[in-house]
Amino acid sequence: MKIIFATNNLHKINEINNIIDSKYRLTGLSESGIFEDIPENEDTLEGNALAKARYVYKLTGTNVFADDTGLEVEALNNEPGVFSARYAGDQKSSSDNIDKLLYKLKAKENRKARFRTIIALIIEGNEYLFEGEVKGEIIEERKGEKGFGYDPVFKPSGYNKTFAQMDIDKKNQISHRARAVKKLIEFLNSFDKQ
Ligand code: IMP
Repeated sequence: MKIIFATNNLHKINEINNIIDSKYRLTGLSESGIFEDIPENEDTLEGNALAKARYVYKLTGTNVFADDTGLEVEALNNEPGVFSARYAGDQKSSSDNIDKLLYKLKAKENRKARFRTIIALIIEGNEYLFEGEVKGEIIEERKGEKGFGYDPVFKPSGYNKTFAQMDIDKKNQISHRARAVKKLIEFLNSFDKQ
């Protein structure tokens, strides 16, 4: 069964291809002949993930899933949330985004935050949502060189390293994305048996 993963990120596609049942054939957007920019105009992660999946489903009629992730900081009313990629502007600079986040948290004692990933799946015309989260805190200065995005300032609860100080394998065991993907895979792998 073919499923489109509504992304052009090859790393994300390979990661899921390695763990999904072989009855599924996963293809990315460009491989599926979709080259346009899919709009992400909703104000929630759920809304954006669903909008992306619906857009591709309408275009192709093929089973599809899409993801959206955001960092939610408690003391900032869950900012940057759905705006995580472009928090400091449309140039989508991770470094500028971190600077803005640290500035806004300067006078705040509460540094609690979480990453949240939503995956929206449309299979045989039905819609399903899967969620993964990892709780942690925003530290005061960057630590570590690995990862991407907000990793240098995010320390997951129960660890004394930021995501940017962790080996990628370790991060992938506990991350928001990994947790949402696990739920999606469990669902897909048992789909025929339902
Ligand atoms: P996306 O929905 O996966 O494209 O993620 C949106 C934005 O959230 C990214 O551009 C990053 O700024 C941030 N983000 C998502 N996942 C991570 C992560 O694992 N570490 C750090 N930042 C992340």
